[in-house]
Amino acid sequence: MAVSISIKNLSKSFGATRALDRVSLEIAPGELFFLLGPSGCGKTTLLRHIAGFYRPDEGRILIGGDDVTDTPPHRRDTGMVFQSYALWPHMTLAQNVAFGLEMRRVPAAEIKRRVHEALDTVKMAARADSKPNQLSGGQQQRIALARALVVQPRCLLLDEPLSNLDAKLRLEMRIEIRRICKQAGLTAVYVTHDQKEALSIADRLAIMRDGVLEQIGTPLEVYRQPRNAFVASFIGETNFLPPGFFGAAYDPGQATKLSVRPEAVHLGTPPAGPEFLRLDGEIHGTVYLGETAQHQMDAAGADGARTTLTVFELNPEILARDEARPATAWIHARDVVALPQ
Ligand code: ATP
Repeated sequence: MAVSISIKNLSKSFGATRALDRVSLEIAPGELFFLLGPSGCGKTTLLRHIAGFYRPDEGRILIGGDDVTDTPPHRRDTGMVFQSYALWPHMTLAQNVAFGLEMRRVPAAEIKRRVHEALDTVKMAARADSKPNQLSGGQQQRIALARALVVQPRCLLLDEPLSNLDAKLRLEMRIEIRRICKQAGLTAVYVTHDQKEALSIADRLAIMRDGVLEQIGTPLEVYRQPRNAFVASFIGETNFLPPGFFGAAYDPGQATKLSVRPEAVHLGTPPAGPEFLRLDGEIHGTVYLGETAQHQMDAAGADGARTTLTVFELNPEILARDEARPATAWIHARDVVALPQ
């Protein structure tokens, strides 16, 4: 049965560092929730509080409605998966996975059945008798997942579980982790630096800065409607423009800045209609990357201020690098985000 996780007004300081500052968060049963933010923002500290490795200075933590703030880690029923798999090298994979059940004095026949089930879930049942050193990094991380799942935790806590893997394996494993969490109906909290990991598999995510949650939402909400300049520039790339950049064509309201993603700037003359905002300027630098080209475009706003924008062009056909050339581009008004700060 999937459980909710409630974080209520959690604060934690290490000396003068306020690692968590009145953090409140509701994670729904069965949700795959990501914590994202720059190094030192407090992600791991929050995860460790949920696991029970830290006691908060203030605030409460509820798992499945039970207040576990004062419950030691081994009685919280959480499964943990870390960056380092920490498998026992002298044990077979089945023995590695069985270990947690043996510690809990589960009967032998049940251990056998549950180990097989867990290995099956991570698609490693055929390798039950192998030793960890016979496996690739991705396979070892699967075993680490099986080991966390086999004790049937109420929720799964993952701390940078894929950061030791190469890029291709990371792609594969992130899809696998989502499949496994959904199949097991587990509530999961996942800490990462990797925004693509979060955007691709999270149900919702939180962006943290200096111990504070800056924004919580679905990947689409956080990417397309960032609440402030920090979130807009932390997730993906963006261009900041002065509020009056488009003149009468775009009403910035109370905004102090506009944010426009590089992929929302299209080269060429705009289609007819007031929703298409025109830019005229000059491209003075291009990085060719195969599937895209990234251009630097100087454009003058309606207020006369010149701004350099990054523009992504998909499927580029010309390897233009350094020569400057005049360019016209357009942006759909709905792709302009007005930011308060
Ligand atoms: P990273 O992505 O680099 O792992 P993070 O977002 O997980 O960073 P935390 O590890 O949660 O950040 O750290 C938050 C802040 O608290 C940092 O300033 C860190 O130096 C400090 N901190 C964390 N743990 C401790 C500790 N045990 N003792 C002292 N300071 C700590």
